[in-house]
Amino acid sequence: MDDITGLELSPRKIEYLKYLFERSDNVRTTEISNHMNVDPSTITKAINELASSGYVNHVPYRGFSLTEKGKDYAHFLLRRHRILSLMLNHYGLTAEESCAEVARFEGYVSKKAINAICDSMGHPAFGVCGRIEHDSCNLKHEHHEEKEE
Ligand SMILES: [Zn+2]
Ligand SMILES: [Zn+2]
Repeated sequence: MDDITGLELSPRKIEYLKYLFERSDNVRTTEISNHMNVDPSTITKAINELASSGYVNHVPYRGFSLTEKGKDYAHFLLRRHRILSLMLNHYGLTAEESCAEVARFEGYVSKKAINAICDSMGHPAFGVCGRIEHDSCNLKHEHHEEKEE
């Protein structure tokens, strides 16, 4: 989980990736289509783009699942959502309001910004809608090495 800016995917593709991550087995286009109320041809196009960028596997006749790269990215997406919603919750929004608010803009917040916020919040273990994993946080050790030079 390195080399990502967090700005690689459109908000729509983020939703597909999160959905595939939650499902964790092969998912068919029609299931995504029904779940998200989007035209199947739109889904197919977006999923094919995700596959050619290496986030998604396509198993003919069985459906789609996330690659390791896709899973790593999904971990970051969840952390971003939960850090931002926890932040709004701290400022007085309810949990539901925080999640809904964040869902409108989370796709535009970089990993660099999320790491800084996560760090300043002390890497909280729980957000308003679930556990927060910190595997993708780039924690301190890198900075120590840089300072010795
Ligand atoms: Zn949430
Ligand atoms: Zn963290």
